[in-house]
Order: sequence, then structure tokens, then C-alpha cells
Amino acid sequence: MNGHTLAAGVVFNPNPAGTCPDETAARLVATAYETIRSRYVEGRRQIAAAVLAADGRVFAGVHLEAMVGCYSLCAERAALAQAAIYTDQPLVAMAAVRYPKPSEGGPARIVAPCGGCRELLSDHAPGLRVVVPREGRGLLVPLAELLPDKYVGTKWATTPANYHQ
Ligand SMILES: [Zn+2]
Repeated sequence: MNGHTLAAGVVFNPNPAGTCPDETAARLVATAYETIRSRYVEGRRQIAAAVLAADGRVFAGVHLEAMVGCYSLCAERAALAQAAIYTDQPLVAMAAVRYPKPSEGGPARIVAPCGGCRELLSDHAPGLRVVVPREGRGLLVPLAELLPDKYVGTKWATTPANYHQ
């Protein structure tokens, strides 16, 4: 077991921020980790995300599991919605951390956004960089790299000046 036990049956795992060579990535991973560490509920909340706005503020969100799985909410989308409430600044970087189930053990780990989140994030924060796990490290990569040749529709032709870009 990589974690240490703080209370009976509750194991807290090492913060994966230490695998990030980039200071911004480490800050976001640490925030996501602390969020899910404190808000974890088995089978209900297992992933947290943190997104950094251009003004330096960080907004967190947690994954919400649904009884009917397809209605679950990803942590990345929750963080995006949280940022939408509090800032009009562009969103520049994001990270997400998955906390292991007690039956799994092992460390908390950085997770890449799912395909659906890549779509939504690219619609609302196309300049975003995202922390992804690669070769044991958490590396910041452009979101556009994770979703090449994105579909572009006609719902909005221009981006309002006060909107995330
Ligand atoms: Zn997702």
C-alpha cells in the first residue's frame, strides 16, 4: 500500500503532483488531489478536476456518479461550470485526479479527460492545456493535441468578448 492510514479503514494516498515537472501542472494536480481526497465517496465521487484561469484563480469540480451511469457528470465539466460562474478570464490549464477505491489500494493518479470532455472543453476553452499521464509523469499538453480535427459547427460564429477563449 502506497498510502498511509489516518483513520480506521481510511487510506490517504500520496499526492501525484510530485510527478509534474511543470509548476502549473503540479499546482493543479495538488488542488485536484486535495479536493478529491477531502470529498471522496466510494461509488459516488472519485475524480476531481482543477482549472486555472488567466488571472491566477483556480476552480475545482468533482465527478458525480449517477445511478444510471450515462447521467454521471465528469469532474472536468463540473470545474468548467464552476469557472463559468466566477470568471470571464480565459482558462489556461486543467488537471484531474482519480482517487482509488479502497478495494483497489494504490496511489491516486492523474487522469486524462474523456472524449466528451475534450469536446466540451475545446468549445469553451480552446486555448487550454491539460495535464496528462505520460511515462509516469504529469505533463501539460495543448487540448488541441488531444482532439485533432475537431468538429466545428455553426452555433456560434464569433466568441463574445467576455467569454472564455
Ligand atoms: Zn469526461
